[in-house]
Amino acid sequence: MASTSTPHDDEPPAEPNEPESALQTARRQLQHAADHLDIDPNVVERLKHPKKVQEVTVPIERENGDVEVYTGYRAQHDSVRGPFKGGLRYHPDVTREECVGLGMWMTWKCAVMDIPFGGAKGGIAVNPKDLSEGEKEQLTRRFTDEIRSVIGPTKDIPAPDMGTDPQTMAWLMDAYSMQEGETIPGVVTGKPPIVGGSKGRDAAPGRSVAIIAREAIDYYDKDIRETSVAVQGFGSVGANAAKLLDSWGANVVAVSDVNGGIYDANGLDTHSIPSHHEEPEAVMTHEAPQTVTNDDLLELDVDVLIPAAIGNVLTAGNADDVTADIIIEGANGPTTSAASEIFAERDVPVIPDILANAGGVTVSYFEWLQDINRRAWSLERVHDELEDEMLAAWQDVRDEYETREVTWRDAAYIVALSRIAEAHETRGLWP
Ligand code: NAD
Repeated sequence: MASTSTPHDDEPPAEPNEPESALQTARRQLQHAADHLDIDPNVVERLKHPKKVQEVTVPIERENGDVEVYTGYRAQHDSVRGPFKGGLRYHPDVTREECVGLGMWMTWKCAVMDIPFGGAKGGIAVNPKDLSEGEKEQLTRRFTDEIRSVIGPTKDIPAPDMGTDPQTMAWLMDAYSMQEGETIPGVVTGKPPIVGGSKGRDAAPGRSVAIIAREAIDYYDKDIRETSVAVQGFGSVGANAAKLLDSWGANVVAVSDVNGGIYDANGLDTHSIPSHHEEPEAVMTHEAPQTVTNDDLLELDVDVLIPAAIGNVLTAGNADDVTADIIIEGANGPTTSAASEIFAERDVPVIPDILANAGGVTVSYFEWLQDINRRAWSLERVHDELEDEMLAAWQDVRDEYETREVTWRDAAYIVALSRIAEAHETRGLWP
């Protein structure tokens, strides 16, 4: 795992380009893509900044009678292609800057998928584990009221993120709808299906990771039935991706959770391993010939490696020891910039997160369409349309990858930035 400790003054930093904040990463990747394109530098400069950041105070009365005051944010980055879209995070480390950086990532992610949304992110600096269910509901309803003026189905549509879930989104939708005097499911996505959520939303990021992995396997002339795969993290993203690839014939030889991993060179029966949501952190309880640590899993001799747990696990410290032929980013930001450079030098393809795990925001878009049309889609339709969207985005990124001879990450950012810049230039929003 990437070290987060501070090195002594006389030691070189463990990671030359670390630590980098989400905002620094988003700005660096923007500039990197812009360097490949002939676009108005004023547009690029504008995109380095959010359009608006709402900072609000969220007081709640705890069950013991104390009043606790939290700070919440909604950072809206860019809406040139449609309403702002992005998650709401409840986590002690939430800051204004983090929301801005993650909001920028959402702009790129929606643009690479060609979804008519811009990017936003928000949250509250709070540890949700310290709150009862009732206190979380109170917090969410009060927060919704504080950001009411900047959200809405045609303005800015939040979704679940770390520390929030479908129930949080249901409270948000209810608080918003009560004030508006009508039920407005399109104000949030990731809701429970009974109040307008989409079928297939939970499994969508893992499904998109599997689709992109399948396409990459094919692109590099491998037969999926002879392809070995290791997946770090067996939660929503990792378990769904592993199980689908297994169903499509791949040999999933290793999976892990926070406690470590299991390995079977002949392939694991991924469907019988409990995912994080079925039974938290139970991967190691599953019978397998061998166990592996999370660090070792990243260095297994496999065809495809899918880091799908946390960020910054592929670093300058281990990038040279990674022997996988293809890396598919399931988690957000699993590869540091220093590691990305090493993989580029070694010609190891890294298919980036903004493409691979974009199934989540894509099915959120489907949910929004279902809400505003008041018509639910079947699971089969969600799967079919997700497949189409992923293949279209894959093709667009592949075209840039081939014509410009850049990395897959640069190709994805080039696709995204071209669309955003062209929209800005066409609308004439500058200055
Ligand atoms: P999750 O909570 O469902 O599962 C996370 C899994 O990772 C669990 O199996 C957990 O045990 C494991 N894990 C946690 N810490 C670990 C560590 N230090 N080492 C190894 N394993 C560890 O989470 P998720 O929703 O699957 O999200 C995983 C990643 O994918 C995150 O980076 C998230 O931001 C990203 N992502 C999630 C979604 C989504 O909608 N769920 C969408 C896009 C991207």
